[in-house]
Amino acid sequence: MHRHGDHCGHASRISPLRRGAGASPRPDSAQPAAADPLSVLTSCPMPPRSSPRKPATASRRLERENTNDDIYERIYVAILEHRLHPGTKLGEEKLAEIFGVSRARVREVLARLAHEQIVELYPQRGAFVAKPSTEQALDVFEARRLIEPAVLRRLIETLTPEKVARLRQHQELELDARRRDDKRAVVRLSGEFHTLAAELAGNSALARTMRELSTLTCLIIVLYDAPTASSCRADEHSEIVEAIARRDSARAEKLMLEHLDHIEQSLRLDANAEDVDLEAVFRED
Ligand SMILES: [Zn+2]
Repeated sequence: MHRHGDHCGHASRISPLRRGAGASPRPDSAQPAAADPLSVLTSCPMPPRSSPRKPATASRRLERENTNDDIYERIYVAILEHRLHPGTKLGEEKLAEIFGVSRARVREVLARLAHEQIVELYPQRGAFVAKPSTEQALDVFEARRLIEPAVLRRLIETLTPEKVARLRQHQELELDARRRDDKRAVVRLSGEFHTLAAELAGNSALARTMRELSTLTCLIIVLYDAPTASSCRADEHSEIVEAIARRDSARAEKLMLEHLDHIEQSLRLDANAEDVDLEAVFRED
């Protein structure tokens, strides 16, 4: 599977609006990496990055080829695609070996992930993928219910045909991933939908907050949902997009609240802890 520098988890930055309606980009198409055309479509938390995914055989590359951003992104995507579960230990030494970098570099990346609440650092014990408690999960949904209607209101107030086109493009990617039964992409894209809406709304503080909440939701879903379930129902996103396109704020907000309720209601409280083989997770990455 190809990876582009934009995935669930990296949308803190407001990406420039995509101009022009050329061929709709797809996650698997071999687009030139230059302008990272997908960065506009991905909204979940990753910073727009431009390095194309390297084949696994290249794991012993020179250190300079694995930048901190590369490592960050690979760990991030592994979490968002449910390949790394909450509570997984992220051993510095093992990661340094996997990515062919120094432990100091790994520590830098882990510190950044910790700052974004994706990773938890414990003295003496090391770094672990964050494992939000059920209480934190409830907090996340409460915050989302407050923020996302505001996001939609602002988005509709500032709506342009280009923004609608962006949302529809994203919808296409989501539907395409579902048709291909690409569960990883479905999970990632469904989360990214929400961050994209926040980015398009044009309030950077809301977008940043949405990105964090979206990432935490990804972790919560891994913890409390069936592994094969996806976070969002595609038809619900479609209905929300249509309400936005009609500038029907009341309906869009209502649909969003229902949508969040559905996600929350689908969660279960049977967290599973398992030993994960870090090498295996990144081997196919
Ligand atoms: Zn959703």
